Amino acid sequence: SSSLLGAMGERRRAHAMLFPFPCSGHINPTLKLAELLHSRGVHVTFVNTEHNHERLLRRGAASGGALRGREGFRFEAVPDGLSEEERAAPDSTVKLYLSLRRSCGKPLEELARRVASRGDDDDGVPPVTCVVLSGLVSFALAVAEELGVPAFVLWGTSACGFACTLRLRQLRQRGYTPLKDESYLTNGYLDTPIDWIAGMPTVRLGDISSFVRTLDPTSFALRVEEDEANSCTRAQGLILNTFDDLESDVLDALKDEFPRVYTIGPLVAAMHGRVNRANGLGGAAAGLSLWEEDFACMAWLDAQPAGSVLYVSFGSLTVMSPDALAELAWGLADSRRPFLWVVRPGLVAGGANALPDGFVAETKDRCFIAEWCAQEQVLRHRAVGGFLTHSGWNSTTESICAGVPMICWPGFADQYINSRYVRDEWGIGLRLDEELRREQVAAHVEELMGGGDRGEEMRRNAAKWKAVAEAAAAKGGSSYDSLDKLVEQLRLGCQ
Ligand code: UDP
Repeated sequence: SSSLLGAMGERRRAHAMLFPFPCSGHINPTLKLAELLHSRGVHVTFVNTEHNHERLLRRGAASGGALRGREGFRFEAVPDGLSEEERAAPDSTVKLYLSLRRSCGKPLEELARRVASRGDDDDGVPPVTCVVLSGLVSFALAVAEELGVPAFVLWGTSACGFACTLRLRQLRQRGYTPLKDESYLTNGYLDTPIDWIAGMPTVRLGDISSFVRTLDPTSFALRVEEDEANSCTRAQGLILNTFDDLESDVLDALKDEFPRVYTIGPLVAAMHGRVNRANGLGGAAAGLSLWEEDFACMAWLDAQPAGSVLYVSFGSLTVMSPDALAELAWGLADSRRPFLWVVRPGLVAGGANALPDGFVAETKDRCFIAEWCAQEQVLRHRAVGGFLTHSGWNSTTESICAGVPMICWPGFADQYINSRYVRDEWGIGLRLDEELRREQVAAHVEELMGGGDRGEEMRRNAAKWKAVAEAAAAKGGSSYDSLDKLVEQLRLGCQ
């Protein structure tokens, strides 16, 4: 029987259990990574929370079953432990974070063992040999430790965003944050230059992260970011959705601190180039969108001239005030250019997403409002010439991969540093002031979309970065090779 076991051991495949924090910005890149691993022969178990799983099943019933498993790729779910009241609370993301930490470790471990107990049996599911987490679920590092398998963390921000998050602790220790009082938000203090983050140019304190803006010495969000980023040192490897040429200096510096850094991005380019072409649209490539996508906007885009449309979206989490919404709306109206605007349910604080009176009537011949769309497809549409974005990292990489320059309106976490790089390091965007004003919105739209030199230059740079991103993800490119190394490492873990 020992030789039989030996033979089985040789046959045993790497089996990655992936668990993202349950929000779009984490699920999307983790799922793309899962697809890429699967395309390299790694067995995949992708774990959602039961709440999202059921939400996706309901959506799947309408759109063709995104959660259908395939040979070597299955979806599972664990409870998130939230009550319905907590889910509806304004700080539901914090409650979710705490609840997962409190109650999700055991179910995850049991799940891994349950899948494993099926063993190398008839349905051919090998035991879980590694765990891949997104940021914010570091509690699950302990699950991997319990299981005795290596853990890898896919930190879903830019490398510069990760480097900044790692330095929140020093900023706190050196007294830069928390802020002394409210006046520090507006008195120029946030312009303080920070020139000591390895691999990064001098940046404004305010650009490092939204979390430096706190007045609270015990700020929960600040500590969570700090702890989550620093806990990555406990993982076997750090996986980043970026590519070497885009952030070479900061990556070099990170590699001093983290010996195993896998730069496998942009995931959207890797997916586009490889999985889609090779396998057709798999279950996951078809998307695990938590909202119903409005495909009518694609037909509307078809009818617009090439490069004429501004796409406007702030991702899955941004909440804006009714005043900011009105300034944005009138700025877009005043720009007199066509725009496709995603007004997600919950975008506006206080509930109703009421657009200002008269706005729809004034813009109806050149505006399409969607609740949610297939963003990657939209950005790649030939009619789209610019993206007004909150500078979330997924949106930023999707825009880079589509060669679309941006107007940035950052507001949370790493969005400030992303927009700083978009504008100053990569030359592919403009940035709006924190307080939205319609005049500035209209002027920036004109600068980006109009025929001026600056717009021209941003378009040229965007086309260049698109090509560099594609080359990184293509066979022989840096991200392709990095994925090879990651798969190799996952395989080592199961010998
Ligand atoms: N997204 C989408 N449809 C929309 C708006 C956003 O599919 O109408 C997707 C987008 O493609 C991206 C994700 O939602 O993959 C948002 O992630 P990002 O990191 O940009 O921002 P977050 O939502 O985490 O703030």
